[in-house]
Amino acid sequence: MSIAACSTTTRALWKDVSDAEWNDWKWQLRNSLKTKEALARVIELTPDEEEGMKLPKHKLSMAITPYVATLIDPQDPNCPIRKQFVPNVRESIVSPLEMTDPCGEDSHTPVPGLVHRYPDRVLMIVTNRCAVYCRYCTRSRLVGEEKQYLFIQEDFDRACEYLEKTPVVRDVLISGGDPLLLSDAKIEYMLKRLRSIKHIEFLRIGSRLPFALPQRITPEFCEMVRRYHPVWMSVHVNHPKEVTAESKAACERLVDAGIPLGSQTVLLRGINDSLPIMKELMHKLLMARVRPYYIYQCDLVKGTTHMRTSVQKGIEIIEGLRGHTTGYAVPTYVIDGPGGGGKIPISPNYVVSMGDGKVILRNYKGEIFEYPEYPED
Ligand SMILES: *Cc1c(COP(=O)(O)O)cnc(C)c1O
Repeated sequence: MSIAACSTTTRALWKDVSDAEWNDWKWQLRNSLKTKEALARVIELTPDEEEGMKLPKHKLSMAITPYVATLIDPQDPNCPIRKQFVPNVRESIVSPLEMTDPCGEDSHTPVPGLVHRYPDRVLMIVTNRCAVYCRYCTRSRLVGEEKQYLFIQEDFDRACEYLEKTPVVRDVLISGGDPLLLSDAKIEYMLKRLRSIKHIEFLRIGSRLPFALPQRITPEFCEMVRRYHPVWMSVHVNHPKEVTAESKAACERLVDAGIPLGSQTVLLRGINDSLPIMKELMHKLLMARVRPYYIYQCDLVKGTTHMRTSVQKGIEIIEGLRGHTTGYAVPTYVIDGPGGGGKIPISPNYVVSMGDGKVILRNYKGEIFEYPEYPED
């Protein structure tokens, strides 16, 4: 694997580490940067970041894999990678509408670790740990280093019993935390157990690891998943700098194993809130055979005011993509309805007017078109 794809200056900080160790996901996790001292050896911390790391322990944990650390520009306080993962004192500012559980998941949890909001599909939270902690995490109330790591067998089994009794569910999203932090054996146990439930058709795994710990995507893991198809994967990625030779190769291994990939990107102030950056990200994802799926408006999580953009910005980005580039490169922009409304699509309006037997439309260039509106029988 190429060291060249990483920042060579940062990789040099681990110059005594062999490529074999570096490419071992367990080594990456064991050597994750979790303290101010460890991080200060890699990047020049700003006063706001130093203060952020002194915030009380009950705030969201910090963890940055050495691999992700090599993506950070050590001198640039505005580096889009560091802003996603390095704590900042601004996290202590809580705005009036911000919540602990912004998507109202806890109130849609019939059994521990299972969110049943939509009619035919559920989300399972199978672990509380991540390889990297995103500062805007919508589940910061649940995840962290001090929380339960290994998945709770009894909770998973009870969730499966709930699913067995709930035949309307045909789609299960395995999420967390990051489920790919669990061992291949645990993941296989989950896939096998879910596949034993006849009415469950569609399985998908939500993970950030293809971009935060691409070493996790081993050929053995891919071969294992292949036995439980169809399995899809939703991959969290926010910035074109995250699409490296390593992460692209990880995506290719997954797709080669027959796992279709869809991306999930959170719109974040000063990180990816510009059309050129988003367009570059979506193009790089297509080249890694990832289909852009969702752009999320940042949830109203406590302490994330400094990371949110206007909704208008998201609409502008979608408008700047649609028609101007490959249709496959255009994700759906959504807001998760605060308090528990589910994903609500937000789209530029291309219907200028409707009525009098016709629809007036505009195209991506602003040109006007008329289409007849036929009466319903
Ligand atoms: C996002 C989500 C899903 C999956 O939604 P899709 O639009 O099918 O991707 C399912 N359940 C919950 C609770 C979710 O938040």
